[in-house]
Amino acid sequence: MDIAAFRKRGHRLVDWVADYLDGVEGYPVRATTPPGAVSTALSEHPPEAGEDWDAIIADLDRIIMPGVTHWQHPMFMAYFPCITSPPAVLAELVIAGLGVQGMMWETSPAATELETRVLEWLREALALPRWFEGVIQDSASTSTLVAILAARERATDLGGNARGGAAFAGLATYASSDAHSSVQKAMRIAGIGDEHFRAIAVAGDGGMDAGALEAAIIADITAGLRPAMVVATLGATGTGACDDLARIGDIAKRYGVWLHVDAAWAGSALILPEQRAMANGLDAADSLVVNPHKWLYTGMDLSVLYARSSADLERCFAILPEYLRTAETEVINYRDRGITLGRRFRALKLWFVIRSYGLDGLRRELRHHIALAQQLAERIGSEPDFEISMPPRLALFVFCYRPSGVAERELDALNEKLLDALNQSGQIYLTRIRINNQFAIRVSVGQTGVTEQHMNKAFRLITDTARRLLN
Ligand SMILES: *Cc1c(COP(=O)(O)O)cnc(C)c1O
Repeated sequence: MDIAAFRKRGHRLVDWVADYLDGVEGYPVRATTPPGAVSTALSEHPPEAGEDWDAIIADLDRIIMPGVTHWQHPMFMAYFPCITSPPAVLAELVIAGLGVQGMMWETSPAATELETRVLEWLREALALPRWFEGVIQDSASTSTLVAILAARERATDLGGNARGGAAFAGLATYASSDAHSSVQKAMRIAGIGDEHFRAIAVAGDGGMDAGALEAAIIADITAGLRPAMVVATLGATGTGACDDLARIGDIAKRYGVWLHVDAAWAGSALILPEQRAMANGLDAADSLVVNPHKWLYTGMDLSVLYARSSADLERCFAILPEYLRTAETEVINYRDRGITLGRRFRALKLWFVIRSYGLDGLRRELRHHIALAQQLAERIGSEPDFEISMPPRLALFVFCYRPSGVAERELDALNEKLLDALNQSGQIYLTRIRINNQFAIRVSVGQTGVTEQHMNKAFRLITDTARRLLN
């Protein structure tokens, strides 16, 4: 494709994206294609000769789009939001056009220096401890894995890097039973293993039971194990619950354990001064992950890992073969703060988004989402046949349908049927959770363009569909 063709087609594709975002409500929220529908429509073999551009775009519309689930749809209330925005999309265009591989300062000084600056901006915006030093990763799963690897190497004085598994045998780690599955996965990859990863029970408020955490640490020490890391969650994926960082931080300090905070979703809400109480005690953290790609308008993907000291990361990850040596030594080489050598120029997205919305604009958006979730929860909760299983935490709440006359043991099946019917309608997309061993339905608000009207529509859909199931 020559540049003249790229220019013409590019303009048309920007129109295509603009039309998509403008008309996203015309699609069913969750893709309705059955398994295999997309793959069987795709050619089985790659073309030998280059194809006509219009044919490619026609297939994008004909084959790909029906199999897309519309995360930017205002009625997408499943999982957590993964909001993109026009400034983020335009930044991605620039990132792709520059094609920079920012593995180290010299391979693009601007990529490194912009990353440092925007992570300082974000630290200030979220009111994080001023000593936190950051690095952009692709996902919270990676950020948490990087933190556990650094914790492992701190606990073994770099013995794992030097001698392998023998050095970290007997390390034990802890998180609440409601922690994200990426935490357990990171423990597996880091060689801790399920056997030495403790899922600590949650207390009545859904947060980790700090007493049970300390008891587990003491039991492990008594048994000859070495506690190395506790992961506290701000905004658990199922329920939005927050662990008590002040109490857990005290315990971590007492036993010399690395404290990692998983604030992948809720961390963005720290831009709101009125929400910062959930982070009380954060000063004790050794690391924290927040995903601007969830609730801060940067689109997939952009996760930020902050560490108390970048030295903890660099001691673990730095490695210097001859071909990576450069003259500059007083600069940051972000490859030394994570797993991959090659790095996308993601910082540009956060820069475009923060400058274009301003912190005030972002605060307005998040407050709007939180208020809408609150209203919808109140309306559902005031219906006699519904119950709020978990009142709103930020923009997330959980409900279940409990009509009188239906036996307790039939409620799970009824709510599962309700969720299926709602999702299959294509009008809304919600996901499931078990609370107190009961099937319940999560509502997670947070999309560009979501309004009170969408909440009205959600209320009608949920209540009408539920009652129709019974009749
Ligand atoms: C979404 C989420 C994750 C996983 O995030 P990825 O970026 O998809 O890896 C981890 N922890 C929490 C609390 C989350 O909400």
